[in-house]
Amino acid sequence: MNSNTFLHIHKIAIGLLLLLIIFTNNSCTRSEGARGDFDVVILNGRVINPASNLDDVKNIGIKNGKVQIITKKEIVGGTVIEAGGLVVSPGFIDIHQHGQDAENYRYKVMDGVTTALELEMGTSDIDAWYSEREDKAIINHGVSIGHVPLRIELMHDPGGFAPVADAAYKAASEDEIGLLKKGIEMGLDQGAIGVGFGLMYTPASSHWEILEMFRAAAKHNAPCYVHIRYAGLKEPNSCIAALGEVISAAAVSGAPLHVVHITSMGFSLTPQMLQMISEARSHGIDVSVECYPYTATQTLIESAVYDGDWRGSWGIDYSDLLWIETGERLTEESFAKYRKTGGMVIAHSIPEEVVKSTIANPMVIIASDGMITDGKGHPRGAGSFSRLLGKYVREEKIISLQEGLRKITIMPAQRLETIAPAFKNKGRISVGADADITIFDPDQIIDQATYEEPSKYSKGIPYVLVNGVVVVDEGKLVENVYPGKGVRGVVRD
Ligand SMILES: [Zn+2]
Repeated sequence: MNSNTFLHIHKIAIGLLLLLIIFTNNSCTRSEGARGDFDVVILNGRVINPASNLDDVKNIGIKNGKVQIITKKEIVGGTVIEAGGLVVSPGFIDIHQHGQDAENYRYKVMDGVTTALELEMGTSDIDAWYSEREDKAIINHGVSIGHVPLRIELMHDPGGFAPVADAAYKAASEDEIGLLKKGIEMGLDQGAIGVGFGLMYTPASSHWEILEMFRAAAKHNAPCYVHIRYAGLKEPNSCIAALGEVISAAAVSGAPLHVVHITSMGFSLTPQMLQMISEARSHGIDVSVECYPYTATQTLIESAVYDGDWRGSWGIDYSDLLWIETGERLTEESFAKYRKTGGMVIAHSIPEEVVKSTIANPMVIIASDGMITDGKGHPRGAGSFSRLLGKYVREEKIISLQEGLRKITIMPAQRLETIAPAFKNKGRISVGADADITIFDPDQIIDQATYEEPSKYSKGIPYVLVNGVVVVDEGKLVENVYPGKGVRGVVRD
């Protein structure tokens, strides 16, 4: 053979090799020539859309940030994602995420989340909150108007995330209740996604005050997202009494109710609380509920949560507490010391069988309650969604994959779409929907964040798209892209 023929065969071999790499490596390639009809195409993935019970191998074409076609036919586009063997899901919606900065958004998106919402605590200034994040966010985000931050502001409490002085311990006057109500209505007019409450952090807020806030929410048909007043088993201040308060407020006012992190309020009484919610729903009261897939809680040690007999009420002791800053387990002495200095503490307080039975309950949405600061925090901030799909769906088979995805896509979207119609285009893969898409390997997806190392990214999620833009590519975060949008409720002048 002469050298020319050798060169020719050599070229063909390299070409074949490249083709082989493209089609076996699940890599995202950008063809420079003909762009075809779409900005991005996702080919040969197992598309699961819980909203329509779709579970089939399809191609998806995306243009201008929206899903344009879902088809068995061949399609071409500028960016090609070969998704053979992978699940193509609507991007996950985290209905309970406190950390709302660049660091936290990285953990979220690496865990498959395309929209993260601060609804439990919320903010006191809706416009400022959204403008701080404009064009700076890798994922979609949103916020509620918060009773706690409004109370902190009104009562000049020096606390940050949670109040430590008057906002926690001073009863509001009639005038102050009026001002808090006005604050809530103003926030809703500016497009807040509902009203946030942390009743355990504001023990001095009277039952009447809370009812008045629910009345303000009801005017806009705005959901009230509530961390209820008491956790645990001990009467009269039990989780049952606390849940009764807010179901009553929903029934009296007509405002929709969402109960946050139920397992960390109920512990072993969680099944009874879920029974109450189910019964209230059967009588026409609009109640939804969420949990995170972990057996430990996290909050500020100096907050009102740790007032009173928490050991008796939660059925745990000092040694069940983990001090995040140092990783040490606490004693009576170190508890007293850190309560003075303040900081985040983890409490191992939720039985594993309660976590499992709550995840299995078809009413329950899964959310993270996440917040990681400088790499420190609770692993739920980085791993909740992969843990649901890796540990509880694949390994323990508590629920099916379709059901697991339902709890983190269409269920939160439907909860939010009345107050924020933008969610009618999220949480689903359908023509016209926002191209928020998470592509994962159902055999590999798993959380890696632990109590000791909470800042470890999840694995098994090679691609994530937010509004049609690839933000995770071959399992790596894409730097300097900010396609995330602020999602608001209806804004009224
Ligand atoms: Zn909470």
